[in-house]
Amino acid sequence: MATCSFCGYDIIPTTGKLFIRKDGKVINFCSKKCEIAMNKHNKIPRDTAWTKAYRDNKAARIAENKVAENKNKGKGEDERKKPSNRKA
Ligand SMILES: [Zn+2]
Repeated sequence: MATCSFCGYDIIPTTGKLFIRKDGKVINFCSKKCEIAMNKHNKIPRDTAWTKAYRDNKAARIAENKVAENKNKGKGEDERKKPSNRKA
């Protein structure tokens, strides 16, 4: 099964469009939406909200933020415990 060169999702057999550039590179499109976004508007898949590349990138960013928040939370708890140690 072919995948769309722009959005990255699988193309249903007997649908979509095969586009061949002048330089010979073969490009598959699942829909006219993807074709126009790539060829006419020169959009980057990573920056276009409905593509797989964007969603993967976003999930990675959220995971990184959660890891960073957990690290900060851990530091915060340690700092809270320190004043109790000062009393003793
Ligand atoms: Zn597509």
